[in-house]
Amino acid sequence: MIKKFLKRVFRKPARTRTAGNAQVIPFSLHGVAREQISYGALKVTDGLQAAGYQAFVVGGAVRDLLLERTPKDFDIATDATPEEVRRVFRRSRIIGRRFQLVHVMFGEEVVEVSTFRRMIEAEDAQTDEHGRLLRDNEFGDQEQDAARRDFTANALFYDPSTQEIYDFHGGYADTRDHLLRMIGDPETRYREDPVRMLRAVRLSAKLGIKLDTATAAPIAKMKSLLDNVPQARLLDEVLKMLLSGHSVECIQYLRKMNLHHGLLPLLDVILEQPMGEKFIMLALRNTDERLSQDKTVSPAFLFAALLWHEVLGAWNLRVQQGGRPVGAMHEAMDEVLAKQKAQLAIPHRQDAVMKEIWLMQQRFEQRAGQRPYRLLEQPRFRAGFDFLLLRCASGEVDNELGLWWDEFQDAGDVRRAEMLQPEKAGDKKRRRKPRKKKAAHGEEGGATVVGTAANESSD
Ligand code: ATP
Ligand code: MG
Repeated sequence: MIKKFLKRVFRKPARTRTAGNAQVIPFSLHGVAREQISYGALKVTDGLQAAGYQAFVVGGAVRDLLLERTPKDFDIATDATPEEVRRVFRRSRIIGRRFQLVHVMFGEEVVEVSTFRRMIEAEDAQTDEHGRLLRDNEFGDQEQDAARRDFTANALFYDPSTQEIYDFHGGYADTRDHLLRMIGDPETRYREDPVRMLRAVRLSAKLGIKLDTATAAPIAKMKSLLDNVPQARLLDEVLKMLLSGHSVECIQYLRKMNLHHGLLPLLDVILEQPMGEKFIMLALRNTDERLSQDKTVSPAFLFAALLWHEVLGAWNLRVQQGGRPVGAMHEAMDEVLAKQKAQLAIPHRQDAVMKEIWLMQQRFEQRAGQRPYRLLEQPRFRAGFDFLLLRCASGEVDNELGLWWDEFQDAGDVRRAEMLQPEKAGDKKRRRKPRKKKAAHGEEGGATVVGTAANESSD
């Protein structure tokens, strides 16, 4: 023990060595141990190295370990081609067409392995008229692979067998200084791929590290380049932000950089309404908290929250013009979704859940007769109720309503019966005309839901 201690105190200061253009940082300096790497990632690097290839843990995982955070996943970079990787691991498959990757399976864990690739030289590169790279799928070597990555902190290679980190761009020092710095000339790199501006915001907010001044500077004047990014990619990145566990910081950062315009096009409008802002911030805080407790979060719930005050506004307008509440709600939902869809491609499959959550909000008001019991049976009652609580917390509806539902859902039969409110005069039988039986296949999506909701409120 004492010997070990003395050895530690008096040992020679650890040094980095160079290998080609890389600084090689020993374990004694960085302290990231082989045991911190996942089972599957170790199997992959060991297996590839035993077969004579280079293999490193790379990207976000190395960065997160240096910052003493738990990595989301462990990606591997290698000089073996996808076919060669495939031959080393029986349980693996090649994915992707544009740039092939290999997924290696170890029970639940899937390890993504990519072959070193290089940025295509300017004269060969295919870019759009704004300089955005349209093709980046050439194999390369380790150094080239480092150079094509975005931030210095994301371009570190960890070799689990020697426990050394290979650093071509000063990422080790930057990470230690809690600095996120773009590799190369930031303007050029944003032009190649404008999504890097959003990644800069997300990673610095999520990791609590500062964006280097030169990296941050061009963003203000270059943000319009985001307009040329395919919708699906934008949505992907926005979702990563909202589900990063640090969505509040991300949004605050986006606003500071004025980047939220055109991104979630309605976000700026919504954030300018005092009620809307409070509600959205609560929803985001709630999401961050759930994620920190390892609970699931549904993107549909989040989108429903982001757009709620738009829906509410459109609904109010229609009701003021004499529309019936449920019908007006359907029109309002469709209008808001259509507007949003034109600018940010929220997938269709989220629509149904968002609408269910929104529609339930009207039904929470109805606390007489059989209606509350019916609502409890809704498969998405929980999401609807969580949504209601957010509305209460933001001051949109009276807290009493949330408390009532909180008690009602867990109460016994007797208590539930006591809690029910008396039917209001005229509530019953308002629209009870004897109906002809509907055709078996019914109407199209939206209209059927109106029918259901109307039935619910008229019994
Ligand atoms: P996260 O913790 O959110 O997964 P990450 O840095 O691992 O963060 P990924 O999207 O998983 O992000 O990307 C893996 C790696 O690929 C990054 O660390 C980076 O080296 C590289 N990379 C990803 N997106 C880009 C990009 N747009 N431009 C250049 N390199 C990128
Ligand atoms: Mg990652």
